Amino acid sequence: MINQVLEITKKVIDDLSGKINNLLEIVSKKGLSSFELPDTAYGIPLIYALEGIKINNVEEIRNFHKEILYRLKKQDDLNNLALAYLYIGEIYLTLKYINQENKETTYYGFIGDTIQRTLGVQLVDGRIPAVAVLLGELNADNLLKIVKELQEKKILTFLVGSVAQELIKTSERYGFEAYVVPVGTELEQTLYVVDWAVRASLIFGGQTPGQKDAIIDYVRKRVNTFAIAFGQINELAVANALGAMFFACPVITDQDLPEIIINDIADYPLLVSEKDYSRIVKKAIETRGLKIVVEKPPIPLSYGPAFEGERVRKEDTFIEFGGQRTPAFELVQMKDLAEIDDEKIHIIGKEWQSRYEKGGQMPLGIIINVAGKKMQKDFEPVIERQIHTFINEAEGLWHIGQRDINWIRISKKAKEAGITLEHLGVILTTMTKAKFRSIVDKVEVYLYVDQEDVINLREEARKQYKERDLRLAKLTDEDVDRFYSCLLCQSFAPKHVCVITPERPGLCGAFTWLDAKAAYEIEPTGGNQPVEKGNLLDPVYGRYSGIDEYVKKYSGGETETINLYSIMENPMTSCGCFECIVAVVPEANGVLIVNRGYSGMTPIGMKFSTLAGMIGGGVQTPGFMGVGLNYITSRKFLKGDGGIRRIVWMPKEL
Ligand code: SF4
Ligand code: ZN
Repeated sequence: MINQVLEITKKVIDDLSGKINNLLEIVSKKGLSSFELPDTAYGIPLIYALEGIKINNVEEIRNFHKEILYRLKKQDDLNNLALAYLYIGEIYLTLKYINQENKETTYYGFIGDTIQRTLGVQLVDGRIPAVAVLLGELNADNLLKIVKELQEKKILTFLVGSVAQELIKTSERYGFEAYVVPVGTELEQTLYVVDWAVRASLIFGGQTPGQKDAIIDYVRKRVNTFAIAFGQINELAVANALGAMFFACPVITDQDLPEIIINDIADYPLLVSEKDYSRIVKKAIETRGLKIVVEKPPIPLSYGPAFEGERVRKEDTFIEFGGQRTPAFELVQMKDLAEIDDEKIHIIGKEWQSRYEKGGQMPLGIIINVAGKKMQKDFEPVIERQIHTFINEAEGLWHIGQRDINWIRISKKAKEAGITLEHLGVILTTMTKAKFRSIVDKVEVYLYVDQEDVINLREEARKQYKERDLRLAKLTDEDVDRFYSCLLCQSFAPKHVCVITPERPGLCGAFTWLDAKAAYEIEPTGGNQPVEKGNLLDPVYGRYSGIDEYVKKYSGGETETINLYSIMENPMTSCGCFECIVAVVPEANGVLIVNRGYSGMTPIGMKFSTLAGMIGGGVQTPGFMGVGLNYITSRKFLKGDGGIRRIVWMPKEL
């Protein structure tokens, strides 16, 4: 079997080489020479990562193409063939991109660095446990079922080939937020996913381009991918499969084909057949050896982060609460264990059932009472902030805002599917318990729907919000007796350690000190660990002996010491998912800050993507640093270097 695969791949390489020569001629005639793929600092990424050659002009493509063919002539074993196909496919796609007049299409095509960084934290903390590629041909019915199953399992799915077209034809939501991404209709475009996955090694892994073996090993072990191929497997699909297998990505096919096992690459089969569509996703997950836990409340709707970003528009709304239309608020409060009737949902209001059934608008006060032996008052806002996610993850439910400016909508479709007011409570009790299992032993939800009640209780709630804010605002690095680390990104960036203090949140923006503290209580062996402060060695730069010891140990000895409040002297390391980059502008004796979504140029002649490429991977780069958005307004922002007055440039949007 494998020999056949190799033979076919050879043929595909020949075909593509012919096409490449044609394209080279056309492109040269047009006088196109240098090029840049959209939103990447890595040239043609796969070639740059593995070979260390950054290709940015057509002449270099021509030379590298020759080089591949020459290497293949010398040795055409499995490794060389797989690599040759990957490179040649990538070159072919790049030339087509250069040659293409209108670069806008419905499909995603080449995937930029920004998306890799944005999804970084989700990839490492398990919110996205795997990446799937669906390719080939399948009818819409089966396809949608499989896509839903993958969405519910939180797997990021790329579609290539006729399945991509099929999905777009349905009216289903797609895009990165929906976890379903139609890449393109040509099978070669599978390489765009490979290209993207490989960049994780550079962006997070701190690998140096050209360290071929280390990078291949990184992708095989750390990037959880699998592919499912539907329908007849043509020659191109075979070559793609070889490329996937080379990166230890198992391919599940619905055709009758013998299993392929390659011990040098993975200890699981790399080609597996499964004809039953209701089992095919499970088969893929099993084969790759993934454990995926799905926490879903018992409601008649699909549920999961893939449905979080979906909007419910006015005309699709069955009923809405809050949003300045009716009084509303949401509050989590800690109670004694004895005070709570566990998992009970109380709906309080006159004739609430018939009022709900009518639809339209309704007041709503949500109070979630929680109790637990390890619960603390400080965790109330941490849990409360999750209400947003809990409700949004239900398909057809929409939530924005928080506290007393919240706004909830239930779509007509969700109502038709049978969603009741009580289900809102069910979502909140189930998910609070699931997510905060080790701090919340009991939970109870009150839903108030009478105007007067909501207004009165909202006043009470406002007092509590205020108290909390005061407590938080007063919290300084000096006040607390310990900080917290975050090691979540180590699964991608093994040398990176985030130290999170009250005045310096994690650089991805996902963790404040309180979040990290709660996370530690929730999962004492998890990614957030207490860091004892030790002695304060330098109050201006923010250097503590306890932090130094911790960082040295957990960076594997790579980082000896860090200053919490400096970019110049031993700054904190960066992984790859920072919200913003701070960079020194020497001629202005100041710093600039650029946010991840900004694609324009900065005054130092580098775009976000280029800057980001210089600082990831858990190394200290004096003069450059990744930070969380909220650190910018902290009193400790670059305190050692002069603070906020040193900022000389930011994009308007930031
Ligand atoms: Fe990664 Fe730091 Fe965010 Fe943790 S806080 S997820 S280590 S960037
Ligand atoms: Zn990170």
